[in-house]
Amino acid sequence: MSCPICDKETDKRFRPFCSKRCADVDLAKWLSGSYAIPSDDPEDMEEALDAALKARDDGDVKPH
Ligand SMILES: [Zn+2]
Repeated sequence: MSCPICDKETDKRFRPFCSKRCADVDLAKWLSGSYAIPSDDPEDMEEALDAALKARDDGDVKPH
């Protein structure tokens, strides 16, 4: 099995991903609107991740 983000070998700690980073990228895709990112370019994903995390931080999610 390979990482769905970058096709590297999966690490069991981060299954089905190869790394925390790829898990974060996948999470960001969901946060930013269900895989609406127009490109598979890893740099675009990184931007999407930043945007998603920023959106979350700027959102109205209130800390405890
Ligand atoms: Zn990966």
